[in-house]
Amino acid sequence: PRLSLSLLGLGDMGTALARTWLAAGHSLTVWNRTPAKAGALAAEGASVAASAADAVAASALVVVCLLDDTSVGAALEGIDLTGKDLVNLTTGTPAEARARAAWAEERGARYLDGGIMATPTMIGAPGTGGYVFYSGSRALFDSRRALLEVPAGSRFVGENPGHAALHDVALLSAMWGMFAGVSHAYALIEGEDIAPKDLAPLLSEWLGAMGFFVGNAAERLTSRDFTSGVVSNLAMQVAGSGTMLRTAEEQGVSAELVTPYVDLLRRRLAADPAAHGGEDTTGAVLLLKR
Ligand code: NDP
Repeated sequence: PRLSLSLLGLGDMGTALARTWLAAGHSLTVWNRTPAKAGALAAEGASVAASAADAVAASALVVVCLLDDTSVGAALEGIDLTGKDLVNLTTGTPAEARARAAWAEERGARYLDGGIMATPTMIGAPGTGGYVFYSGSRALFDSRRALLEVPAGSRFVGENPGHAALHDVALLSAMWGMFAGVSHAYALIEGEDIAPKDLAPLLSEWLGAMGFFVGNAAERLTSRDFTSGVVSNLAMQVAGSGTMLRTAEEQGVSAELVTPYVDLLRRRLAADPAAHGGEDTTGAVLLLKR
């Protein structure tokens, strides 16, 4: 069936989202602060609203995809949201999402927060692995799901409106660690007669093989058993980190991306070498939590 919605925000991501709804034959009203960005979409069938208020008034389902939470506040300032379903796909923190949910509910809207786990090229491209985390109103999610899943798959992670953002940032944070490690690895071979493209498949394969740590750490954090079945113990890993740091030194590479984690493991070991020496590295999580 032809469904209708409004979209506020036609940046790279908003534009990619918009195209999928238009391509699927839905009725889409768009608004962007800089009107010129709506031109191409108008040619593809979108109705262009003259103001954010007009865009909100045009549909019961309102999706926003703006730069940050401040832009969402600015764009929706003073607009009547009574009876609306507001879906916020703008990246923000969990606290921003919870505050925005309360803000929307005070104005009479149901609220769903989203964290997009995709780049614009992965939107409308099933099979590329992109999806959106959603949290907040389950009723909104259930009733609008058909439209929400046009751009990408969905994963509803609970009624706490902050949890989509929390999942989003948790995954991105882990990715950041991987980017840092890979950057350090490439720095180590800079200037050597090892081609980055020859190291690349080895790095990918190794990171895949070490992926077991993810599930392993989850089990240990649940059981609080950091020692059973450990085959790479913390005392050995800390000793081994010296080799990693000296290699960086020999290669003339700053170890700044790896030392924070090494320091954390050293602290865990030093706190009680007899108790922690036989653990794996998961105990570092407990040192991070303030
Ligand atoms: P862009 O920088 O391409 O677009 C930003 C959008 O926000 C534009 O529509 C811009 O309007 C609007 N905007 C900024 N400030 C204001 C304001 N004060 N009032 C009204 N509108 C404002 O960003 P993207 O489209 O790439 O990203 C949008 C959201 O999607 C972000 O939260 C981002 O984190 C998230 N996201 C993006 C991904 C990506 O790879 N691009 C991946 C996953 C999530 P104007 O055109 O007038 O400047």
